[in-house]
Parts: sequence; C-alpha cells; structure tokens
Amino acid sequence: MAEPERFEILILGSGAGGKLLAWHMARSGRRTAVVERRWIGGSCPNINCMPTKNEIWGAKVAHLVRHAAQFGTMTGSVAIDMARVRQRKREMVEAEIADHVHNYKTSGAELIMGSGTFVAPKTLEVRLNDGGTRLLAGDQVFINVGTHSAVPGIPGLDAARPMTNIEALELDYVPPHLIVLGGGYVGLEMAQAFRRFGSDVTVIEHGAQLMQREDPDVAHEVEGILGDEGVHVLVTAQIAQVHGRSGRQVTLDVRMTSEERKIDGTDILVAAGRVPNTAGIGLEHAGVDVDERGYIRVDDRLETRAAGVWAIGECAGSPQFTHVSVDDFQIIRDNLAGGKRSTRGRLVPFCMFTDPPLARVGLSEEDAKRQGIAARVARLPVSAVLRAHTTDERRGFMKALVGTDDRILGFAMIGADADGVLAAVQTAMLADLPYQRLRDAILTHPTMGEGLGSLFGTVPPRP
Ligand SMILES: Cc1cc2nc3c(=O)[nH]c(=O)nc-3n(C[C@H](O)[C@H](O)[C@H](O)COP(=O)(O)OP(=O)(O)OC[C@H]3O[C@@H](n4cnc5c(N)ncnc54)[C@H](O)[C@@H]3O)c2cc1C
Repeated sequence: MAEPERFEILILGSGAGGKLLAWHMARSGRRTAVVERRWIGGSCPNINCMPTKNEIWGAKVAHLVRHAAQFGTMTGSVAIDMARVRQRKREMVEAEIADHVHNYKTSGAELIMGSGTFVAPKTLEVRLNDGGTRLLAGDQVFINVGTHSAVPGIPGLDAARPMTNIEALELDYVPPHLIVLGGGYVGLEMAQAFRRFGSDVTVIEHGAQLMQREDPDVAHEVEGILGDEGVHVLVTAQIAQVHGRSGRQVTLDVRMTSEERKIDGTDILVAAGRVPNTAGIGLEHAGVDVDERGYIRVDDRLETRAAGVWAIGECAGSPQFTHVSVDDFQIIRDNLAGGKRSTRGRLVPFCMFTDPPLARVGLSEEDAKRQGIAARVARLPVSAVLRAHTTDERRGFMKALVGTDDRILGFAMIGADADGVLAAVQTAMLADLPYQRLRDAILTHPTMGEGLGSLFGTVPPRP
C-alpha cells in the first residue's frame, strides 16, 4: 500500500456532528480532513430538516391564503407554483452550503469531495468526485455517514421508482394523488404539505396507528387533524403489490384487517424508516463492529471497538435528529478534553413540524406503563388556552406526566407553538424543578406557554 497522507483528525461523512467536530478541531490547530461524497454539511441543510421545513412553510402560506376570508382578508383564486416553491427552497439550501464552505475555509479543515472506504485501520481510500483517489490516514478517526431511506421489499415497489424525501423536495409539479408509505413524522409532514399544495394524499401505515412511538391519544389527534384537511389515512394496511410507475400512474393492492383495496394514485413517496450508510465502506478493515441492523456499535462515549475511532449521529444508532448528532459532537469534544460525558440518560426532545406541530420530551404514558413507573397525568385541551381564541388555532392538547416526587417525567403537546412550549418544559425538567414551579410561575398572557399554568394546575394529587 502506498504511503497515506496523514491527518491528526480524519472524518468520514460531513453530518451535523462531524462538520462541527472538523471546524472545532481545525480551529484548535489540528490538521483535519473531512471526506464527503455529496452533501456539503450533511443531510439536514440539503435534503432533510431545512428543506422540508422550508416547503412546509410554503404549504402553510397556501393554507392560510385559502382560509383568509375567515380572518377578513379577501383574495382571488389561489394557484400553486411548485417550481417557485422549489426555487425558494433551492435558494435557501444554496445559501446554507455557501455558509458551510465559508466555515471550512476559515477553520482550515480540508473538505475532500469523494466516497471514502476503509482499507486498513484508521485508513481511508477516497474515490474523488473529480476523478482519481487519495489515501488518507488519521490519528483519530470519526465516522458520521448517516442513513438513507429504506425501500421496503414490496413486490413491484422498486420497479415503480418511488420518491424518497430527496426527490419529493425537487418536484416542480403538484402530484395529483400522492401515496405516502409510512405514518411516521417524515411521511406525515410531507403528506400535509402536499395536501395543502393541492394533492389528494393517502397515507398507508402498516402498524395499528400513526406515529407508533406516540401514545394512542396523540396519534388519534394527529390523524383527526390531518383527516379534517382531507388526508386519507389507512392503518393496519399491508401493501401486497405495487403496479405502475410513480410520476405517472400507480395502483397499490392493499390488505386491511377486514378487506382488500386497490388504491389508485399518481406518485409514491416512501417514508418507511432508515438504513445506515455503513454497508460496503470497509468497516471490517477498520476493526469497527456493526449490529444486526448495520448500525455501528459504540459505547456510551461513542467509541467503537477500534481504539481511536468514534461514530457520530444516526450511523451510531443515536436518536435520529440533528440536535442529537450535535450533542454527540459535544460529548466527544468534551471527553477528548478530559471530560466524562456519556450518552446515557440524555433528555432528547423531538418535534414533528405538521401544523399544528407535535412536540414531546421525556416519557410518554405508554413508556411509563411499560417501565412500571408511577406517573400522574395532567391534560389540557389547547382550546382552553386563551391565545388559541385569538388565532383560532384551537386543535390539540397538552399532556404532562408527573412522578411521585413531583418532578416532570414527560411532556407532549400537539398544538400551535408546541415547539416553543416544549423548550420551557424541557428546561424545567433539566433543572429538576417540581411541577409546581411551572404551575405557579407568571407566564406571559396571551401566549400558548401560559397554558402550562393551567396544565400543571390539573395534576392529580399524590395517591
Ligand atoms: C425528511 C427528513 C426530515 C428531517 N427533519 C428533521 C428535523 O426537522 N429535525 C431534526 O432534528 N432532524 C430531522 N431529520 C433527521 C436529521 O436530518 C438527521 O438526524 C441529521 O441530519 C443528522 O444526521 P447525521 O449527522 O447522522 O448524518 P448526515 O447529516 O446524514 O450526514 C452523513 C453524511 O455522510 C455522507 N456519506 C455517507 N457515506 C459516505 C461515504 N462512504 N463517503 C463519504 N461521505 C459519505 C453523506 O453524503 C452525508 O452527507 C430529518 C430526516 C429526514 C429524512
């Protein structure tokens, strides 16, 4: 083997955690290289979080304009220019990429565009996008290669050339009838957005409810909100066969508990889970193990079995959010500086950016039951919060779980501003505050956060 180029820090994949680590290390004077095959800055700014939220916002504008008369604003007929929606998204993504390139330049981290494969411990061969190869070795190596959409092995699905989020965000037309496979947050965000742009939308979920990790009352509320906007939801639905080609005409044979149905549509979006990008990258040559689903095995400090090799973000099996990949970076950074941080017991919040959004942190009611944790449950409809009367955004509810020691164990909200309200409850949880502190706090009127006072006012007394 030729003599590799040596770096102190070598990072494969430029996801959320990897790029932050690169910039941090390079700014601290370490010779740093990052290998990225396609997305400068990783999935979040290019194809996942940011572009979805950008187009979802476009869809919200369409929704508000269609309902403007309710608020006393009269408009003419409403038309959607999907090419313009896409252009606005593309401009945002281009600006994000430019910011990333600037950070690479100013930090001194070298960004190498190409596909990396391990050929020996801590050694990568990179097939450069511009042609040729480079051999790189790192004193410390970090793997941040992310995941890609799973395409279930349903007969005819591959041949139908379904879209993933990547292609759906590049559409310049409104699909006449979009069929979404998967009732998780990726599928539901896109389902509502396309419905608002004007598509007929059918969501097909094989499980017994949408959002399988959420409590049934939460899933039920989400289904009701989407249903009222005209999104058709089929649960406990197994797809037996797909016919046709996405983008033209498709027919799905679907088995439900008590009937079989044919669903005709024009476009298919697959949002049925993720697969780690760990196959075929030579992890066996690096001494790095993966689990049965292909996720890299790490300890609670994100260290792999190979000394001096870490994994970050989704490929390490961390919860699949940008803020967790960022936290992985912070844990590694602090531990390399002598800290003792761990991934154990992390409080991981999450939002689904439907309208209204769903936000949750900590235990759900089902989690508490499964784990045998005694919890008191407080619940408040969003319609009881005065702010909702001013905006007419009255759908949804808040729910909190409180432990026997009065600490808040979990919080869920489906409702306007849920993402912001969540942060207040999460802060109280991080501070181990008893729920009475929020119940008795002076909260700004009229905001959705004000509802927390009423919510925690309904916590049942200790048994
Ligand atoms: C549609 C959608 C919407 C989402 N919205 C949100 C949201 O609103 N909020 C949120 O917190 N999370 C969201 N997520 C999840 C979020 O995008 C990820 O958790 C986040 O980007 C962190 O990913 P990561 O750091 O693990 O890796 P990634 O950001 O995926 O980066 C991995 C990088 O490695 C590169 N790579 C892979 N293999 C190689 C190789 N062999 N050689 C070179 N480069 C390689 C890839 O090209 C990629 O750029 C969303 C996900 C999806 C699918």
